[in-house]
Amino acid sequence: MLEEELDSQELLYEGKGKKLYRGSQEEEVIAYFKDDLTAFNAEKKGQEKGKGILNCQISSILFELLETHGIQTHFIRKLGDNCMVCKRVNIIPIEVVVRNVATGSLTKRLGIKEGTILPQALVEFYYKDDALSDPIINDEHAILLGCVSHTRDLEFLRLQARKVNQVLVGFFNKRDLRLIDFKLEFGKDKADKIILADEISPDSCRFWDKTSNEKLDKDRFRQDLGGVKLAYEEVLKRITTIK
Ligand code: UDP
Repeated sequence: MLEEELDSQELLYEGKGKKLYRGSQEEEVIAYFKDDLTAFNAEKKGQEKGKGILNCQISSILFELLETHGIQTHFIRKLGDNCMVCKRVNIIPIEVVVRNVATGSLTKRLGIKEGTILPQALVEFYYKDDALSDPIINDEHAILLGCVSHTRDLEFLRLQARKVNQVLVGFFNKRDLRLIDFKLEFGKDKADKIILADEISPDSCRFWDKTSNEKLDKDRFRQDLGGVKLAYEEVLKRITTIK
């Protein structure tokens, strides 16, 4: 679906990687995946033609995979090449990061050596607030900030994040990709149920090639390594190729 075709729909929200439009049903929204790339809290900006289509495809496949493993998501169906019809949710302002291998902010914050395999998956919460540069928070902060009302919701987020990790690590391992870390977002649907939302793509995950440890994700943009689109294409190719 072309962006111009969507322009007749009401734009509900524009984020860094996606635009959200009103859907044809009350409880649905249309997520349009943009070609824009941002890093370091949008201090660095770029564009990669065709990236939106790749992320939409990758995300759709991964949401469908998770659904088959009993993880409820906002995904309803793909629409055209770069849109996804999703359940309308209220996003919980917590970025749930799961890490299997130390890199990025974890190495900087705690001095853990880059590439260290963590003894068990680490789940972290960050407060989703651009003005504050998404600071890391603990459970008490999350309650204090009103992100959720009950600690049981935080426990549910952690549990779901670990389940997602377990499914995805196995899935990518079979495709010769190491799932290093990733970020999830959750939302509450109209019945107040917490379901997985947003996207799962090379913009929000780190993938390293199993043999060479070559980075096949947004770090190519963050670190000016070049070949961003090629890397995203490679991830899609491996996802869709059954060995
Ligand atoms: N991540 C994301 N959006 C953010 C912050 C992090 O998608 O706003 C993802 C990132 O792609 C990586 C994981 O979460 O897969 C952990 O990121 P980290 O905290 O190391 O972020 P960095 O400081 O390296 O950007």
